[in-house]
Amino acid sequence: MGDRFPVLDRFADGAQHIGGRLRPGTSGRTQEIVDPASGDAVHRYELAGTEDVDAAVAAARGAFPQWSGATPGERSDALHRFAAVLAERAGDFARVESLQCGKPIKLSTEFDVPGTVDNTAFFAGAARHLQGQSAGEYSGDHTSYVRREAIGVVGSIAPWNYPLQMAAWKVLPAIAAGNTIVLKPAEITPLTSLMFAQAATDAGIPEGVVNVVSGAGRDAGEHLVGHPDVAMTSFTGSTAIGKRVAEIATSTVKRLHLELGGKAPFVVFDDADPEAAVQGAVAGSLINSGQDCTAATRVYVQRPLYEQLREGIADVMAGVRLGDPFDPSTDLGPLVSHAQRDRVAGFVDRARAYATVVTGGEAPKNGGAFYLPTLIADAAQDSEIVQSEIFGPVLVILPFDSDDEGIALANDTPYGLAASAWTRDVYRAGRATREIKAGCVWINDHIPIISEMPHGGYRASGFGKDMSAYSFEEYTQVKHVMFDNTAEVRKDWHRTVFGDR
Ligand code: NAD
Repeated sequence: MGDRFPVLDRFADGAQHIGGRLRPGTSGRTQEIVDPASGDAVHRYELAGTEDVDAAVAAARGAFPQWSGATPGERSDALHRFAAVLAERAGDFARVESLQCGKPIKLSTEFDVPGTVDNTAFFAGAARHLQGQSAGEYSGDHTSYVRREAIGVVGSIAPWNYPLQMAAWKVLPAIAAGNTIVLKPAEITPLTSLMFAQAATDAGIPEGVVNVVSGAGRDAGEHLVGHPDVAMTSFTGSTAIGKRVAEIATSTVKRLHLELGGKAPFVVFDDADPEAAVQGAVAGSLINSGQDCTAATRVYVQRPLYEQLREGIADVMAGVRLGDPFDPSTDLGPLVSHAQRDRVAGFVDRARAYATVVTGGEAPKNGGAFYLPTLIADAAQDSEIVQSEIFGPVLVILPFDSDDEGIALANDTPYGLAASAWTRDVYRAGRATREIKAGCVWINDHIPIISEMPHGGYRASGFGKDMSAYSFEEYTQVKHVMFDNTAEVRKDWHRTVFGDR
């Protein structure tokens, strides 16, 4: 356990980062942060109430004129300093992320934290690169151009699966474009979002530009979404809560960005490299204990390879090392909470009535929120285990015959966040990329993301893009500016009003 806990001393002042300082929440309710690997409470804090949300929005509103008025170069410099502070504190961030989420330390160290540093460096560069149409004389008598302007105060809500990366994906494009922000992390995992805001302040990003309210969804979350001084809502979370957030944001006429659930298909054609597909399916389904919106969840295998894949995946899953997230050899940590573990177990237990549990399907009795890597076969395409987002280390395998059928099955859920196709035939690969309805299609891999490329869903997985230059579309508004070039009192178009006078 050694160096797990001293980092928590820094939250002694509270878990609300408002106007550059930590303070306690005023809701009158406390929240425990539990180490899911042991079940022990490691910290307790006072949740944000609506007054804390009001204070954070006021701080963000107060900071907006100066921050949106800074030059792109000034914002870029601040973001470069921010990236440097994050990189200096990488070890701390990794430990706290592993503590509050139960992530294997090698995942926090090699994925969550460097991904966040890289994202920050990307947006430092992108801040100077807002692109738009060039100015032109489109009417003949006028010069038109487009201004891309910051929107105002952004209210963002994030989930618990990648708390640090989700904070980065929400905060960075928003502030790079000149907005200020109030972020509400999931109440069970606020710590690295608070450290992220603290690093922003320490890097010289003005107080009030980045605020964090650690509160519950129903009160602090809904209050933030409905707040009249919040101009935009960006939400990452489940589709069910996303619908509720959309209702509130729509009724208060806000710009809306929704990154919702997924149920990613993994389509293996009969010419694929079977060994690579087995490795890819296990890694793609178990990353972050399967609590990844793009995780491989449905493996469709063309009939000639089906048995080989079923056996191969079960064998590799059985060799995965579950254990203490702080042990560098641990492959799979616990789920984020005992409640999430029980939810996952519920899906598998219900599936026993209509499908085969090939491997796994058990929760080790060690006090932590662990669940064994699980492969399920013989389920019908319309069954719950194939159609619903489980968000755990559970993979379903199904056979298909024709290419048409494989692609149709891949598209047969309400979601459309990500997918992969496995083949050595360039035409099959091309067809899969065109016909699978998802915001990302990988060929012969599943999971990698990069700061330069957009991440976001189709259909019930939401709309709008995180990361990449495309996220500036979300966090800026476009203004058409038109100059008259004639200097005439009576313009040519006035004929439509004054007739022939
Ligand atoms: P969730 O929807 O339960 O909660 C997400 C956030 O919404 C939390 O901060 C929560 O406190 C808040 N919230 C809850 N009720 C609210 C309400 N009524 N009003 C406002 N806010 C409310 O999701 P979760 O369980 O934390 O995370 C898992 C989900 O997130 C999965 O569905 C996963 O697919 C999705 N996710 C999507 C992406 C993506 O990029 N599309 C990325 C990560 C996670």
